[in-house]
Amino acid sequence: ANNLTTADPQIAAAIADEVARQEAHIELIASENYASPQVMEAQGSQLTNKYAEGYPGKRYYGGCEHVDVVERLAIERACALFGADYANVQPHSGAQANAAAFMALVSPGDTVLGMSLAHGGHLTHGAAPNFSGKYYHAVQYGLNPETGEIDYDEVERLAQEHKPKLIIAGFSAYSRVINWRRFRDIADAVGAWLMVDMAHVAGLVAAGHYPSPLPHAHVVTTTTHKTLRGPRGGLILSASGDEALYKKLNGAVFPRQQGGPLMHVIAAKAVAFREAMSQDFVRYQAQVIDNAKAMAGVFVERGFDVVSGGTDDHLFLVSLIKQGVTGKDADAALGRAHITVNKNAVPNDPQSPFVTSGLRIGTPAVTTRGFGQAECETLAGWICDILDVLAQGADTAEIEAEVRGKVAELCTRHPVYGQAATEAAD
Ligand code: PLP
Repeated sequence: ANNLTTADPQIAAAIADEVARQEAHIELIASENYASPQVMEAQGSQLTNKYAEGYPGKRYYGGCEHVDVVERLAIERACALFGADYANVQPHSGAQANAAAFMALVSPGDTVLGMSLAHGGHLTHGAAPNFSGKYYHAVQYGLNPETGEIDYDEVERLAQEHKPKLIIAGFSAYSRVINWRRFRDIADAVGAWLMVDMAHVAGLVAAGHYPSPLPHAHVVTTTTHKTLRGPRGGLILSASGDEALYKKLNGAVFPRQQGGPLMHVIAAKAVAFREAMSQDFVRYQAQVIDNAKAMAGVFVERGFDVVSGGTDDHLFLVSLIKQGVTGKDADAALGRAHITVNKNAVPNDPQSPFVTSGLRIGTPAVTTRGFGQAECETLAGWICDILDVLAQGADTAEIEAEVRGKVAELCTRHPVYGQAATEAAD
């Protein structure tokens, strides 16, 4: 058959290698997950061929009757899942969902207040190299260096001082529950919009295991591929009841910053939203949190500093300042043992953002492949074994090889997509 392997062996081989890597390595990057075969089937469908600029029932192209069904279902399901009365399922990514929200809510030059990248915010929350920091006057808040938690009094002080038109709450690296109501109170006090970017915790929110920002924020944005376990993409939601705002948000996505929606991805989002309504998904998200708590507990027991002392969600940060180990070296050593994490800045980090003194560890992916607390505790122990040798300044080659062997065995016992996926990719 003229399949990809024969038609384009170079790309087919790289895909096969990536499938093998995903099966054989332990994935602890907090923003990654494994989408279901059904999500991938929808995403790999002929819907990729269709232009559908506009919105269901109001398209600029003919032949949209079937993709309209898909987009309407995606919108209905997103609203039902999150208790929203508005959803835009077209943003190509989380960053584009945020860009659209900015366009709808503020004008270039306006002041915005978001969490700094170095303290766990995202690039799109006002970081200098991003559109959000370049075209807007961005003021940034961070963590209290003593507690490792958001300092709401400081957020309030900054809001009073700078009078932002938009406040952004949400994060890429924060292990505690955010007080959304407090953020809304601060926004109301200065007449600002509140936008919550729940990209990291969307799956936990959908399952009811993390407080929903929908009752508090004017606009909620998210990605669909992290804890939510859908295809790579973005989503905008609101339960504000503000029809004028909904119109502005739709206009900001199309035509202001995007052209044709990715209908195959929207179909995959709809499949993922339906999966997220199941009891299995609710149990999965509870396990994600239990696993993160179990891993964080091992690090604390073994004498490592966990930022804020633990976790309430799917991730936590390990500070290696005390050990004098950099995040860069730790990330590289673990990578050689086939454990994928990412280096991350921690409060009071003496190292540059490229080097850092911390690691961000997340459990969404390992939980999808079936790890429970026991596997997660064992895994955390292996990571500590490697970090201990690094902290002694000794050669890590031997411990890396030992852990690599144990990782291979554990991964074989917990396949992600199983033999069928590996064979299909071969
Ligand atoms: N918002 C948050 C909080 C994120 O953590 C991320 C990605 O890591 C994004 C937005 C951006 O999503 P994307 O990579 O899909 O643009």
